[in-house]
Amino acid sequence: MSTVPPATKRARQFVNAAIIGGGFFLILLLLAGWGFFLQGPPQLAKAVDLPDSGTGFEDATQLLTDMNLALDAGDREAFLAPADGAARDALGLWWDNMAALGSTGGAVWPETFAAAGEKPNRMLLGAALPFAESSANGSGRARAGQRVVQGVPYSVVITSDGNGSARITAFEPADHPWPWDEGPIYAVQSGHSTVYGLEEERALVDAAAAVVEQSAVEALEIADERSEEEIPLAGFTVAITDDEARFQRWRGGKRDDEGAGFKAGGVAQSTALPTFAGYGMPDDLAHDDYASTMLVALGPGSAVARADATRHEFMHVIQHTMAPVIPGFTDISPAVSEGFARYFGEYVPAGAPDGGPARFGQYRKALDEFGAEVEATEVYSGLGGYELAASKFHYLDASGADAWNAGMSTTFEPLGSADAMELGLTEETWQEWIRDGE
Ligand SMILES: [Zn+2]
Repeated sequence: MSTVPPATKRARQFVNAAIIGGGFFLILLLLAGWGFFLQGPPQLAKAVDLPDSGTGFEDATQLLTDMNLALDAGDREAFLAPADGAARDALGLWWDNMAALGSTGGAVWPETFAAAGEKPNRMLLGAALPFAESSANGSGRARAGQRVVQGVPYSVVITSDGNGSARITAFEPADHPWPWDEGPIYAVQSGHSTVYGLEEERALVDAAAAVVEQSAVEALEIADERSEEEIPLAGFTVAITDDEARFQRWRGGKRDDEGAGFKAGGVAQSTALPTFAGYGMPDDLAHDDYASTMLVALGPGSAVARADATRHEFMHVIQHTMAPVIPGFTDISPAVSEGFARYFGEYVPAGAPDGGPARFGQYRKALDEFGAEVEATEVYSGLGGYELAASKFHYLDASGADAWNAGMSTTFEPLGSADAMELGLTEETWQEWIRDGE
């Protein structure tokens, strides 16, 4: 094995997780936010980044291989066998919670593994959940025909005696806890959604399950109707809590709220695929540089209009899955992702493009506030950023352009789509449409 400098550089760049979202929604004069936070979990680019020597390295490799074989065999005891103490308890909790979510296997792989020893390292651990991107539902990419894992990073300490025996002596969430890391979960499985929360929030999960399922059906129907491509998703995995502090922990703090003046009510977070094969992972597990399907979490702020908040997040998941990115490498325009999610997740279900005078009033107000500029950094700086971003998709739709397809290129502004250019839709005509609209 040898080190490939570009891959190493890329692995380092993954550390800078991209924050691309946040959202909010006006209802009954109350502001609530549907945040969107894309986290590209840092991951090792290629297996060749691993050192080819070092005390205990081979032992650690064997340990991960054994864990992958145990995941494939569904053998809980074998999976936990190399872990001690609190690390064993945490891995046991992960296993049981993934089972509750309907996992059909999983994978563990190293992110950075300088050498086995006392120094904490990061590894990614993920399960193949029922509503990950599915080849059975139309994916034509590298994942076609394969099971898709949704990995997230954990800090791990692996100690080795250098003679074939390695142990996991510490294991904890690396960047922030995910809902399943905080205790035993309770999950409700429906045809197009899994809704889950901590066991103590069972009543909330039960109360929200029907709304989330209905929102999933509606979001998938809109996607089916609008997309020329088959939708590679059959549903969504959604965590929910009524505890704001808990929700903030799940989404990794308030990073995407900074300066935005709103509080997120929901979040869609990307997960990682193994970027390489090996370590005993079964052949039918997808590995790819692209991020895996997103997971959704809803906080207390979503309660004011749960269906809208949920569909909004689902549109993020659909867009992200159909137009996937390589974490740390692809710039996503927040104006495109938030405009798409708001328009197709909130306005289309409400009857857009005939949204009525109130909507045009909002657009005009936003246009006055921002001018024509809805650049990346401005989307989150106030209500108007979201309005203007959504209005561009609305405008394309109302003008006979393919608004859905414009959202499938997440780096290009909607009015820059080929369709828009062909129809002569410009910043100027869009502004006129807003000024004249009613
Ligand atoms: Zn959003």
